[in-house]
Amino acid sequence: MKVNCQSQVVVCVSLEHHRMQFPREILVGHGAVERIGEISHRLGFTHSALIVAGPKTFDAAGRRVKEILENEERMNVNTFFIETATVEAVDAVGKKIRALKPEVVFGVGGGTKIDVAKCSSANEEIPFISVPTAATHDGIASPVSSIKGSEKPYSRMTQAPLAIVADTNIIMHAPWRFAVSGCEDVIAKFTAVRDWKLAHEEKNEYYGGYSASLALMSAKHVVHNVELMRRENEEGLRVLMEALISCGVSMSIAGSSRPCSGSEHLFSHALDVIVPNHALHGERCGLGTIMMAYLHGLDWRRIRDALKRLGAPTNAEELGVGKEVVVRALEMAATIRPERYTILNKLSLCHEAYERLAKTTEII
Ligand SMILES: [Zn+2]
Repeated sequence: MKVNCQSQVVVCVSLEHHRMQFPREILVGHGAVERIGEISHRLGFTHSALIVAGPKTFDAAGRRVKEILENEERMNVNTFFIETATVEAVDAVGKKIRALKPEVVFGVGGGTKIDVAKCSSANEEIPFISVPTAATHDGIASPVSSIKGSEKPYSRMTQAPLAIVADTNIIMHAPWRFAVSGCEDVIAKFTAVRDWKLAHEEKNEYYGGYSASLALMSAKHVVHNVELMRRENEEGLRVLMEALISCGVSMSIAGSSRPCSGSEHLFSHALDVIVPNHALHGERCGLGTIMMAYLHGLDWRRIRDALKRLGAPTNAEELGVGKEVVVRALEMAATIRPERYTILNKLSLCHEAYERLAKTTEII
């Protein structure tokens, strides 16, 4: 809407309700999980909890969470094991929540377990606490979940974690490849933010400058700290956790995944459809970010160099996929989420142009 204000034309933003949901307690650092009883108590959970984990993540952190809640807080704690982030797993956890009626759900894991805990607790309208055992992607802190088996192979808004307890000592025990994937998911914000701005300029989509800046700052922060990350220590993990949490908060402010997920994520989703579970989320996004940075006219070589220095895959061979798979994924990316306008919609490239793009950026 345009109004005249003191002879100046002012463009007014929409005054529709805009809901922001944030975590209330965030604890990051060595031994953070030891304070889970205190945090739970402070948030008012003193009777019952359900831990959603996998067998490995239960060993890594879940068992300790259970012990502390039972011994220190005298809570009634049940555990439910899941393997993958599927609609079936979400339904199974939902059923468990309805049967046990816990006050809160703890999601203990690297990504999939937290996605399922987040989504099922949101469906059942109870709070959820995120306890990451790996720093694989920004889902550990965001209000969105990525669940397979739904008709749409990408993330949707569910609920923000009420608390995040990120114990760097525990996360340090996960393979370092997971942390690199987390860095790649943060670096992806360089192109995600560009796509969002583009959608605003060309399609008049809501654009939140503050949340965009926050996501972009996280990406710059990780690139700035590449040398620290290469040391593979807890100090680097703390930097990464803070960046991932900032990305989560940027989505909370935006009210959508827009500041953190653009054409590079569409490429990642497409690749995951063509060759399911082949690589980590961040690894797929990394390749996408290099190519989409080229399309946006960004310094794609600088992005690629940062990824290289982190030890991330920067071409199809290193990711272990065929050249034709990359080109197919590029073609599919533009169609996978029609309402999410990106550089791919604007340029609407043909097969040969996608092939050229992948070759120019040395992905294939
Ligand atoms: Zn992501």
